[in-house]
Amino acid sequence: MAKQKFKYNPDTLSFERIELTFLRKFSRVITHFIFSSVMGLVLMFVYFWLFESPLEKQLRTENKELRFNYELLNSRLDQISSVLVDMQDRDDNIYRTIFEAEPIPQSVRMAGFGGVNRYAELEEKPNMEIVLETTRQLDILSKQLYIQSKSFDDVIQLAKSKEDMLRRIPAIQPLHDKDVVRFASGFGMRIHPVYKTRKMHNGVDLTAPTGTKIYATGDGVISNADFSRGYGKRVVIDHGYSYKTLYAHMSRVLVRKGQTVKRGDVIGLVGSTGTSTGPHLHYEVIKNNRPVDPINYYLNDLTPEEYDEMILVSSRPTQSMD
Ligand SMILES: [Zn+2]
Repeated sequence: MAKQKFKYNPDTLSFERIELTFLRKFSRVITHFIFSSVMGLVLMFVYFWLFESPLEKQLRTENKELRFNYELLNSRLDQISSVLVDMQDRDDNIYRTIFEAEPIPQSVRMAGFGGVNRYAELEEKPNMEIVLETTRQLDILSKQLYIQSKSFDDVIQLAKSKEDMLRRIPAIQPLHDKDVVRFASGFGMRIHPVYKTRKMHNGVDLTAPTGTKIYATGDGVISNADFSRGYGKRVVIDHGYSYKTLYAHMSRVLVRKGQTVKRGDVIGLVGSTGTSTGPHLHYEVIKNNRPVDPINYYLNDLTPEEYDEMILVSSRPTQSMD
C-alpha cells in the first residue's frame, strides 16, 4: 500500500490526510516506470557483458576463420615471393649474363609506389592489420611480376638477335638423362677423393656406366682431344663467345682436334681414366678462362624438381669423383 501523507492543520489542530492530485499520481507512475526501465537496461548490459549473444558467437567464429585464412594466404604469398626471387636471380645472373645485358637494378625491382598512401582507408579501420599486410604483399608481388615479365620480353628479343650465339653456348646436359645414374658432385669446394684435401671442384660429376655416350653441349670447334694426368682422356670444345666446355675421364675420345661439332654430336664415351674413383663424366663450363657452375647451363633439360635437387647436391659438401 502506498504511503499516506499527512499535513498539520493549525485551524483544526489536527493532522489531515493530504489527498494526492492526479498530476502527482501521474508523476509517481512515470518516475517508477523510468526507474524500472533504467534498471532493466543496466541488467541487460550486464548480461550481455557477461554472456555472448548467439549472433556474437557466430561472428566471433567467422572472424577467427577469416583471420586464419588470411594468415594462410599470407604464407602462400611468402612462398610465391620466394619463387619470384629465384626467377629474378636467374634472370639477372644467368639469362642477362649470357646475353651480356645489364642486370635490372635492385632500385627498379624494389621501387615502391610513392605518392599518396594507398592504404589510408584500411589503416583507419580497426583490426585491419592482417588485411593491410596481405594487400601490401600482393601489390609488391604484382609490381615485381610486371617488371620480371618485361625483363623476359627483353631477354627474348636478345635471344632472337643472337641465334648464332645461342647455338654455341652450352645449353644441354652432356649425358642423356636416362644414362645418368647419379648427380654425384657439384661445383665448388670439395674434399678431393684421392688426395683427401679440400680443393676447388671446377665442374660437376655425373655418374654413368663406362661406354655411355657423351654429347657436345653446344656448337664449336674441338680445341683439345688428348690425355692429361688428372683429367685422363679429355675433350675441350671452344664455343666462341669466350665459352669452352671440358669433358674428362673418357674411356674413348671420338673426335679430333680442329673438328667442328654441333650440339648433340657424340664426342666420346664415359670412362674412369686419369685421377678418378669410378666411371663418371667430369664436366666443366669455362667462361672467360674461368670455370663457372655448369648447372646454370643445362636448365633446358631439367624439370624444376630436378633443378632443385641439383642445387641441393651442389651445395652439400659431398666428395667429388674428380
Ligand atoms: Zn669432377
